[in-house]
Amino acid sequence: MKKHLILLTIMITTVVTNLSAQAQVIAHRGYWKIDGSAQNSIVALQKADSIACYGSEFDVWMTADGELVVNHDGTFHGKSMEDSTAEELTSLTLKNGENMPTLLQYLETGAKLKTKLVLELKKLSSPEAETEAVEKIVALVASLGLQDRMEYISFSRFAIEEFVRLAPKGTPVYSLSSNLTPANLKAIGCSGGDYSLKVLKNHPEWIEECHRMGMKVNVWTVNSVENMEWCIAHKVDYITTDEPAELLELLNKK
Ligand code: MG
Repeated sequence: MKKHLILLTIMITTVVTNLSAQAQVIAHRGYWKIDGSAQNSIVALQKADSIACYGSEFDVWMTADGELVVNHDGTFHGKSMEDSTAEELTSLTLKNGENMPTLLQYLETGAKLKTKLVLELKKLSSPEAETEAVEKIVALVASLGLQDRMEYISFSRFAIEEFVRLAPKGTPVYSLSSNLTPANLKAIGCSGGDYSLKVLKNHPEWIEECHRMGMKVNVWTVNSVENMEWCIAHKVDYITTDEPAELLELLNKK
């Protein structure tokens, strides 16, 4: 009897360990390759949640009047994100007919869902602007009680340092930079690297290095099955993709 119990414990532990080791899916700019959706739209966030993505990524700018809005490029319909007001930008429509969302609208929607909110702060025009944006993001998140649902990413090393400094201790913060080694990331206080697939294929050893240092590895943007398989085989923790449904199906077969 005791022997059976030990065997069962070993089996359960193995299953749990394997499950936790499986890569998690992050929808890049939400799940937008579907009818009625668009990149960085509120629908894209809802769709990512509806297929049970671990997380949904989106991009944040700060407008000329200090508001936070969700969009990828530095200009949209000819309007500069940093030089236009929130009113000007949020009157513009996305490909699915939605107005460009504010961060508040995005997070309020996220509050009703389960998926992690992977917030990318774009590189802003000055360090002062980045500090102001990070302060406002952290305060807004706290006011909505979403601290445990957030992950922060940025190409800006300064913005990353500010997230590490200002977000509650333990909040996942990842750098998107290709120039930072796992040792650099650890020194900054990052939770890990969010590397491009190209960088990771050039430095596959960084995956194990991050793991050895107690950090995680995210990779972007992985859209082909071949590359998804490479990332899974190399034990990447999070895979950011424009094809979240396809990646989930692939992982479910394993
Ligand atoms: Mg992004």
